[in-house]
Amino acid sequence: MTTHFDSTRPNQKTKVIINDYIKGLQYKHFWWYNFIPFLGTIVALISLWWLPVGSIEVGMLIVMWALTMTGVSVGFHRYYTHRSFKTHQVMRVIFAILGSVAGQGPLISWVAIHRRHHECSDLPGDPHSPNLHSQGFFRTIKGLWHSHVGWLIDHDYPNPTYYTPELLRDKTISKISRFYLVWIVIGLVIPTVIGGLLHWSWIGALQGFLWGGVVRIFLVDNIILSVNSVSHVYGTHPYQTGDQSKNNPWVAIPTFGESWHNNHHAFESSAAIGLKWWQVDFGYAVVWILAKLGLVWDVNLPTAKMMAAKKITIAQD
Ligand SMILES: [Zn+2]
Ligand SMILES: [Zn+2]
Repeated sequence: MTTHFDSTRPNQKTKVIINDYIKGLQYKHFWWYNFIPFLGTIVALISLWWLPVGSIEVGMLIVMWALTMTGVSVGFHRYYTHRSFKTHQVMRVIFAILGSVAGQGPLISWVAIHRRHHECSDLPGDPHSPNLHSQGFFRTIKGLWHSHVGWLIDHDYPNPTYYTPELLRDKTISKISRFYLVWIVIGLVIPTVIGGLLHWSWIGALQGFLWGGVVRIFLVDNIILSVNSVSHVYGTHPYQTGDQSKNNPWVAIPTFGESWHNNHHAFESSAAIGLKWWQVDFGYAVVWILAKLGLVWDVNLPTAKMMAAKKITIAQD
């Protein structure tokens, strides 16, 4: 799912690439990074009967969740897609690798897909809108299924040459994006080794692989997918955005604050997605700490005037 093209010969102005090669990659990616982690999670749950988890497994799951969510939410999303702050090369590389470990596609593909989502949000062309299946209960279910799962194997691939030219020009970042599989494997090996060493057993290594690796990929993936699905259907819509994006408090903690999604569509380049003190936003907490440490700077935030201008006066906020 990187930048290989075939006979349709897209040029810089081609917005989406549709061909059998890309479709094949989408199927393969879905099989390896969505379906197999799903099966692995079922195996892990069944294994609890014989192999109950302890603080090591829970700790690894939480730490790996926090690291990969930092990669996806702060790195892939707030930095690479929306340029909501500036940072230096070492942090750029760290963000790119941590986000890749999540197994949600190579960096350049991820950014291209997300930029197209913002361009066409809830309109034809949006790769994963749940709102293009008209009204009614069953239509809503169909829309939710498409935005959470179905789109993974059925979307027009946004052309990186059009959507992410600056990333394609960056040799280091392009290389990290191409080595996608390497980062995923490292993300599986590390918890396996830590589990094996801490328990000093092969069973400990297997538990580390399952809970810090496979289950973590499944959970992080579904947490991020819930922003596409749930946060475009359920919640409040305090700001004018021209789409159906919603602020959904129920998944704010696991999504690292991404589920304040109406805020995000209203102020795309804001590093903070939770805009009120009570809107939990771990992703912005990471940016704030890094800014205090001098590791990131020029952090973008909307002004009170900008927020007032987009506020819907009869909002249900
Ligand atoms: Zn959205
Ligand atoms: Zn975004």
